[in-house]
Parts: sequence; structure tokens; C-alpha cells
Amino acid sequence: MNASLKFDDNSITVAVVGCGGFIGSHLLQAIFERTRWRVFGVDLESYRIQEHLTNPRFEFLCADLADSAVVERIAQYPVVVNLAAICTPGRYMAEAAEVIRSNYDHPRALADACAKSGSWLIHFSTSEIYGKTAAASGALLEDESEIVLGPVSASRWSYATAKLLTERYMAGLADLNWTVVRPFNFVGPFMDFMPGVDGDGIPRVLANFSTALVRGETLKLVNGGLAKRCFTSVHDAIDFIFSLFAHANAGIGQAFNVGNADNEVSIAELAQLMRSVFAAVKGVPENDVPGVETVSGEAYYGKGYDDSLRRLPSVAKAENLLGFKAKIPLQAALEESLSWFVGHYAL
Ligand code: UDP
Repeated sequence: MNASLKFDDNSITVAVVGCGGFIGSHLLQAIFERTRWRVFGVDLESYRIQEHLTNPRFEFLCADLADSAVVERIAQYPVVVNLAAICTPGRYMAEAAEVIRSNYDHPRALADACAKSGSWLIHFSTSEIYGKTAAASGALLEDESEIVLGPVSASRWSYATAKLLTERYMAGLADLNWTVVRPFNFVGPFMDFMPGVDGDGIPRVLANFSTALVRGETLKLVNGGLAKRCFTSVHDAIDFIFSLFAHANAGIGQAFNVGNADNEVSIAELAQLMRSVFAAVKGVPENDVPGVETVSGEAYYGKGYDDSLRRLPSVAKAENLLGFKAKIPLQAALEESLSWFVGHYAL
């Protein structure tokens, strides 16, 4: 792999697996705007990327990694970004086997193919691999933090277990040029879905709270909303990927946290912030916006729910090796996300 990928080099084609998803759709947009590259994109859905389907620099294949011929084809490209995953918490309990196939078997096949072809595989893992962190845990370090996952009976950990095994497998493949990305609660336009409209089940907290706000329903705080997260704008995530593209040598063989440590809030605080942003977006008094209520994790998600109480990234590694630091404050990220949600679902 060259020391960097030149953004004005029109001979480069990047394969983006999961190009139709939340992060993938933003990545496509950025590649077309900021570079002269071509993209070979793979996904089962394309509604978020309609505007690109006729772009001559884009080839779209409606498929997934369950098909070994598709895997071989993807690995023919020198750079492969893998964003494809089942990553809806509600499904970690009810469909654990399918979650493991999506987050271990499929990326493992892709890693094997890239090891053979010599492609650079940029694999999106998750901050959930840090497991069942306690409320008092400190910043999570990519190469040092201990990892404790809950018991098998707490099936929430099916996703983290599969993602972690994929990371270990990739790191163990001698011939693979790999980079692992661990997202910390990315938010922005096109995140997840609105239950009953363009998806079913329970999406992640931002889409859940947005849905509750527009439907005039109370925001559900799981176990009191005491857990803390660092919500990170998807635009920062895209800037991270470009920093990585520009510093390939420094990024190969490394796992990176990608998150905004300055944006840490409890879920209860997030609910209040979203209530006031929503009131401003709709131009109504905050008192008219739905309130909050506490629900138990098991009542809300079903048996086997468990949680991480704090997920704070150390961001030093990305800063030192790639010169990347997330910049977008929580308030701005929430304003953009909620305004988009209200407009997109025309509510
Ligand atoms: N959560 C909540 N209400 C919701 C959805 C989620 O209180 O409607 C909580 C959830 O229990 C967790 C946090 O919000 O503590 C973040 O959950 P999410 O599903 O967004 O993703 P995670 O960061 O856990 O992977």
C-alpha cells in the first residue's frame, strides 16, 4: 500500500461494502465531492443513495457478503471499506445467530479474500467491543483496555462478541493489510429508521427519541438513562476516514477509536437536550414537548438485555498517528440530526 491515496488520482477505485447504509451514504457523497475516485458499492438497499446511482463514477451491486462470488469480486479492488453489519441493538437478543453471521462469518470471508488479493481492508467494528464498562470506568484505550463481556445468557453481547472475534481474526491473518475502526455512537441524517415507517423493531437511541418526539410520545429512559455515551457527528466520522486514506502507512495494522470525548452525556441528559432542540426546530414551547419515563431494560428490549454504563474513547491514537480529532459539538450534531429527521419524515 502506498503511503497515501491521492485524492486527485482518477485511476483509484474503492470498494464500499454497505454503501447504502447510514455511514456508507455519507462516505459515498464525500468521495464523489472530495476526490476523483470511482466507487464499487455493495448493499442490499439503495434508498439513501438514489442520487448516485446514475453517477458514471459509481457501480452499484445489490448483494451481500453471504455470496462468496461477491466477496471475491470486492477483494479485487485495492481499498475495501466494510461498513456492512446488523447493528440494531433490538436484534442482538432476538436474532443472535444472524447477528453473528453478519458480524463474524461475513467479514471473516472478506478478510480472507483481501489477505489473498493484497487489498487494504478498512473494517468498521464497534465501541461495543469494550463490553460491559462500569459507570466509573475511564477513557477506553485501543490497545490496553481490558474487555469484559456479559454472560452468554445476556444475549445483548452477541454483537460485541462477533465484532471482537472478527478484530482478532483480522489481526491474526499474517498477510492482511487491515485497519479497524471503532465508532462511538455516530449520529446524523439517515441514521437508522423510524419504526413502522422504514424499519421495524427498536433502533438506536437517537432515532428512538426522534421518533417519540415527532409522535408526541414519552421518551423512554432505559434503567433511568444513567448510561453515558459520546455522541459523534457522522461528518467527523467521514473526516476520520479521509485522514486514514491520507495516512495509509500509519493506519495499517491499527485499531482506532473514532469518537468525540467532549460530547459525553448521560442518556437522561440527551433526552433533555433533544427535547429542547425539538422545541426550537418546531417553534413550540418546551413544555409542549413530550416528557420522559423510566423503563427497565428487559421490559423494553426483552430478556437478555444488558448495558455498558460509560463509553468514553481515548482519542489520542487517531490524533497522534493520523492528525485526526472530532470537532462537531453535541448541540450542533443534535440540531442537524433532528432537523433532518423532522424534514425527512415530513412531520
Ligand atoms: N436507550 C434508552 N432509550 C431508548 C434507546 C436506548 O434509554 O429508547 C439507552 C440504552 O439502554 C443505552 C443507550 O441508550 O444505555 C444507548 O443505546 P443505543 O441503542 O443507542 O446504542 P449503544 O450505545 O448501547 O450501542
